[in-house]
Amino acid sequence: MPHTEPRIETLCLQAGYQPGNGEPRQIPIIQSTTFKYDTGEEMARLFNLEKSGYFYSRLQNPTCDNVAAKIARLEGGAAAMLTGSGQAASFLSVFNICTAGGHIICAAEIYGGTFNLFAHTMKNMGIETTFVPVRCTDDELRAAFRPNTKLVFGETLSNPSLSVLDIERFARVAHEQGVPLIVDNTFATPINCHPFEWGADIVTHSTTKYMDGHAATVGGVVVDSGRFDWTAHAEKFPGLTTPDATYHGLVYAERFGRGGAYITKMVAQLMRDLGCVQSPQSAFLVNLGLESLHLRMARHCENATRVARFLKDHKKTSYVRYPSLPGDEHHELAKKYLPNGSCGVVSFGIAGGREAAEKWMGGLKRCIIATHVADARTSALHPASTTHRQMTDRELENAGIRPDSIRLSVGIENIDDLLEDLEQAFGMLP
Ligand code: PLP
Repeated sequence: MPHTEPRIETLCLQAGYQPGNGEPRQIPIIQSTTFKYDTGEEMARLFNLEKSGYFYSRLQNPTCDNVAAKIARLEGGAAAMLTGSGQAASFLSVFNICTAGGHIICAAEIYGGTFNLFAHTMKNMGIETTFVPVRCTDDELRAAFRPNTKLVFGETLSNPSLSVLDIERFARVAHEQGVPLIVDNTFATPINCHPFEWGADIVTHSTTKYMDGHAATVGGVVVDSGRFDWTAHAEKFPGLTTPDATYHGLVYAERFGRGGAYITKMVAQLMRDLGCVQSPQSAFLVNLGLESLHLRMARHCENATRVARFLKDHKKTSYVRYPSLPGDEHHELAKKYLPNGSCGVVSFGIAGGREAAEKWMGGLKRCIIATHVADARTSALHPASTTHRQMTDRELENAGIRPDSIRLSVGIENIDDLLEDLEQAFGMLP
């Protein structure tokens, strides 16, 4: 008798698109902006959200919807929407429930692009953010709340500092205050962590990373657990609980319930007006990536653990950060939230400072130098000589980056080839 709910590996392959008799085995790329209807009345009902169906690919497209449905299953969520990038997913996930005059709380250890979005661009839109250390106490987190706080945001595993968010604790405090917790689950992927099981309400991803996995296409996704009760906190979320004038006074929470309100509003209102869609071609590529996500994540984690151990034992390194490694400051949280592995990214320092780190990078042969992380090929970045090269050592330290830091995104190549390459680059150093 088959298990009632397929396991995650099967979902990677079979969730979302279900071909009917004689239909294509692989998900069709519906490369069409519009969809044809026999009568104007039918089309009008779609425009009024009285009937579901496709009419214009800026709002919805069948290829994208099938891939979104697969990711929703992988995360254990109720509904999902693809976006043109991970940045768009972070922005829409917040802006859907927090507009001008609102306030959000965000973990300080966060991807730099998300920091810029919240601290600067959204500030210019009238949304204030308070950043709290990921290791803050419950009381410190509570103290960051204001009457206009609409949500709490954090990353399961932060890029690049590899801190682990205590999801259960952050969710508990957020719920106590009547707001949802949004978790960016990009680095862990649903293979290694299910934030909804720990109380998160909404999950975002940059699908550009492990989901695509081949550095082929930029994209994002927002997934709703369908569990947050918007009507119980109606005064905080008027966008979901009061009439939308652009849909003849429809109230999303009433019409679509907990499972549908958040994503339907995001599609019908924000995607309609902001248009940051993922293309069907990109969605097709993300789906190909998802089909092998479970195999790749296991290999990324296996290789990264070997690399982290090798670096830890090496006399020419100054420190190693990898949460799956015993002794790492986030190891206890990693054991709880990421018991099967964390991700492929390892951060470490080269003994000898900035110059030694530059020299070591110059010695790499098989690992490529790239700003990207989380794809199948191993890549390395020395922030002090690339993304942050204009900064002095003191400025770097203020920004939480050491002059000798290397961010290594460990791929799925043969581990001995990788270790040999790292070792021969150390051979370039005195
Ligand atoms: N979230 C995380 C954790 C990321 O690492 C990134 C990009 O590196 C993003 C979001 C933004 O994603 P994208 O580059 O697809 O816009």
